[in-house]
Amino acid sequence: MNYEFKAQSKRLMELMIHSIYTNKEIFLRELISNASDATDKMYYESLTNQDLTFNKDDYVIEILPDKDKRTLTIRDHGIGMDQEDLVENLGTIAQSGSLDFKKKLEDQDEATDLIGQFGVGFYSAFLVADKVEVLTKKFGQDQAYLWTSSGVDGFTIDKAQKEDLGTSITLYLKENTEDENYDQFLETYKIQEMVARYSNYIRYPIQMEVTKSRPLENSDQEDQEPKYESYQELETLNSMVPIWKKDKKDLTQEDYENFYHDEGFGFDKPLDYIHIKVEGLVNYRGILYLPSSEPFNWRSKDFEKGLKLYSNGVLIMDKCQQLLPDAFSFVTGVIDSEDLNLNISREILQEDRELKIISKNIERKIKDKLLDLMKNRREDYVNFYKTFGLTFKAAIYESFGMEKDKYSDLLLFVSSKDQAYTSLDDYLDRMQEDQEAIYYATGDSLAKMDQLPQKEAMAEKGLEILYLTDPIDEFVLKAMRDYKGKSFVSINTEKEEKLEKTQEEEGLFKEMKDILAGEVVAIKASEDLADHPVCLLSRGEVSIEMEKIFQAQGQ
Ligand code: ADP
Ligand code: MG
Repeated sequence: MNYEFKAQSKRLMELMIHSIYTNKEIFLRELISNASDATDKMYYESLTNQDLTFNKDDYVIEILPDKDKRTLTIRDHGIGMDQEDLVENLGTIAQSGSLDFKKKLEDQDEATDLIGQFGVGFYSAFLVADKVEVLTKKFGQDQAYLWTSSGVDGFTIDKAQKEDLGTSITLYLKENTEDENYDQFLETYKIQEMVARYSNYIRYPIQMEVTKSRPLENSDQEDQEPKYESYQELETLNSMVPIWKKDKKDLTQEDYENFYHDEGFGFDKPLDYIHIKVEGLVNYRGILYLPSSEPFNWRSKDFEKGLKLYSNGVLIMDKCQQLLPDAFSFVTGVIDSEDLNLNISREILQEDRELKIISKNIERKIKDKLLDLMKNRREDYVNFYKTFGLTFKAAIYESFGMEKDKYSDLLLFVSSKDQAYTSLDDYLDRMQEDQEAIYYATGDSLAKMDQLPQKEAMAEKGLEILYLTDPIDEFVLKAMRDYKGKSFVSINTEKEEKLEKTQEEEGLFKEMKDILAGEVVAIKASEDLADHPVCLLSRGEVSIEMEKIFQAQGQ
């Protein structure tokens, strides 16, 4: 029988054939995920059908490359399709069978978490093939069918012979072009790589015959070169159980570190990790890592933040940026959710409600972990802060202080008390009862700030001063304006202070000002000095240090 594709399917098909999509290799992910769905459905049958026993090990997904014919076949032992299914499911886009199936299951407890619901789906086969055959036999039926299509024109469905249940999808690969080598999809290493990359955590074994070689047992000892024979071995290409789905108590520190390195998140030993399992509004799991040192391209503009995103074991994206706020760009890891409704279009992803909930959640978890480190592993946190603290500061400064509630408790400053890093909360805890402000100093170096004349007098009064060592620090404090109601006051800036001057002083100051012609705006008496006779202050909002930065930037 001849059929035409429905209008939208035709359009999608065209899109696939004249692919705008550079990432052609995702076709395998889609077909494997369908095979896994179909196997899930079989599993569901076995739960509701007395006559069926389901042995998970029997339900392998096979990959069969044929270099002579230039075909690639993906075979499953899942639920299969009858004629009607073929027309409905493979003839119409947006007629997602899995979606219907999921709706049916909604009020039941069986955790048959089906993959699917991805816009591209089956049609992605046409990214690499100019002809596709689907040979299939449905559970509970005797007749098998062959669905064939060579693209937009439509498809045919004919009765066919097939022994076992399930579906076999054969792709006739496109001819190689200058830009695209389709033969590579028949190569063992390429298939291994694609499966490991995109379908590693599919819960059924994905198997392929792999050619290996071994030394011949009776090889002639006299021979210089040992003789080898090649043999075929069935290899399982995927690891099946993702580490994030495992129980925390079954995992060691080493497991987490191995995963970090296997995934290429970094070459360092991660500072810490967060293993997340959330069941609620949105269900998801994941593992997040804090690095201990700079990622290699951290300071380059090529650096891309993001988490690896899976939907139920199927890789959707390598770097999902929406999951991480800029302030936490340094975080790496994976998130896997069964509740994501994804599409190829990133715009839709951006609006995804579930994703938003997850990202909010993650942000809080990272924040909690950082505060925990600050409290319980201060030395490590200080080192971490020296490398990555700038991202918190930038987030506060660039939001004009709007984000200060999120990140200001993560900040550290060197304190005049002990020259060690302190948090603002620690500072508040130590504040004197009637102290109104958080004092800070600016200067070229710690040593210079520590020797400021005005610091001396304050220290005598037991007042603690934060030394701002990073040029951006003062801008950040100015953007914040206050912390928990306590304003920031620079000790390098002139205070509102009215002291009566004697006539002698008046004369002296006038003389000094004449000598320093053009160098100072005013000379005043102050009560804020101890042993030093004078100190330099700046007037108004812009400190001497800020002025230097503006000058350097030519502003
Ligand atoms: P989705 O997986 O999102 O439903 P696809 O385009 O990937 O969309 O697949 C469309 C439908 O075709 C599936 O929902 C399923 O009903 C059917 N299908 C595809 N591949 C198989 C398969 N290997 N076995 C059984 N049914 C399949
Ligand atoms: Mg699918």
